[in-house]
Amino acid sequence: MNGLATSLNEFSWLFLGFLATGIAVRLWLAQRHIDHIGRYRGEVPHAFRTKISLADHQKAADYTVDKTRLGRWELLTEAIVLLLWTLGGGLDLLDGAWRILGLPELATGIGVILSLAVVGALLDLPFGAYRTFVIEERFGFNRTAPGLFLLDHVKQLLLLLILGGILAAGVLWTLMHAGDLWWLYAWVLWLVFSLVMVWAFPVLIAPLFNRFTALKDEEVRRRVEDLLTRNGLSSRGIFVMDGSRRSGHGNAYFTGLGAQKRIVFFDTLIDQLATDEVEAVLAHEIGHFKHHHIGKRILLTSALSLAGLALVGWLVQQDWFYQGLGVTHPSGYMALVLFVLALPVFTFFMQPLLAALSRRHEFQADDFAARQADARTLIRALVKLYAENASTLTPDPIYSAFHDSHPPAPVRVAHLSSQAP
Ligand SMILES: [Zn+2]
Repeated sequence: MNGLATSLNEFSWLFLGFLATGIAVRLWLAQRHIDHIGRYRGEVPHAFRTKISLADHQKAADYTVDKTRLGRWELLTEAIVLLLWTLGGGLDLLDGAWRILGLPELATGIGVILSLAVVGALLDLPFGAYRTFVIEERFGFNRTAPGLFLLDHVKQLLLLLILGGILAAGVLWTLMHAGDLWWLYAWVLWLVFSLVMVWAFPVLIAPLFNRFTALKDEEVRRRVEDLLTRNGLSSRGIFVMDGSRRSGHGNAYFTGLGAQKRIVFFDTLIDQLATDEVEAVLAHEIGHFKHHHIGKRILLTSALSLAGLALVGWLVQQDWFYQGLGVTHPSGYMALVLFVLALPVFTFFMQPLLAALSRRHEFQADDFAARQADARTLIRALVKLYAENASTLTPDPIYSAFHDSHPPAPVRVAHLSSQAP
């Protein structure tokens, strides 16, 4: 312990301070959330009294509390693993093990990065299993067989190794060979990679996990096509996904860019909603298109990643950065690894800003849907989905402001009600 204490520098203490603050804030938020939900568990909120039963309301409360409790354990485990990798000397050990092999620097770097990714994925596995086979199972949502669960994780790991390997190789190569402005070239590379992923996700990656078929129901199909044509969109991009293979939760999302964009309905959602309600949900998704939300998100992440890479470009040359995070053998790939591991510790306060931006987009899409379809139909669809998915109607407001990408149920329904004629 003496050796560790003497090797800590000011940056180590800054890192520890931010880490402790981040954990304390999130544990405090989780406790508030659990308490708040418990306080309102006895009664359905007034606005939902005629629409949601007390039994459904209490199921949502218990389900949310279970998930939040698991989240606390995950948070603490991640923090311990991060400390073991950095100040605990884990990265030094891993780096040493790869260096013994005497491979070229580029291969050593890729080896270190991929080993970290594999260990991270393995550590996530017990949490994923607990979530699926204990929590989801307890509330009747789980439909994933153990074999499918394992197969999913093997596929994810292979994808991580292949895609992560390609990206790591490209970025490390620029770092070693492209001179002082390597971070700018690495950024261009990252941008190209992200755009290829936006293209590849719906056509190559998502089909590895699910089957996508054309929407069959004639009546739904006609309504949906009408709505799309009215908005100048092609109807070839509507798919139904067999989400019921894994879970009873219903959902819809939009993905892709340009002519290749598509809207995906989970089969569970189609089963849960009436025709006009599916139409209202689609109108909401079209709202995301019309407001260019995917493009805006890509612009924002591009700007943030440029700033991040410029920062790494500077950190690579700072001895205190490596030393402060427990690494004794500085190298380009180690700077990247440390940056990726330590960054979330310093940027956790940005989470409420990004969540607020996302909620703003949801309001815009809801407003669009209210103009296209009927706000009351969308409310009916949302209330059904809240009940079916056991989403809590009474989140803690501060917890929700920090974490939620979608406005909480009461706020969203009140906002839509104000738009109803
Ligand atoms: Zn949305």
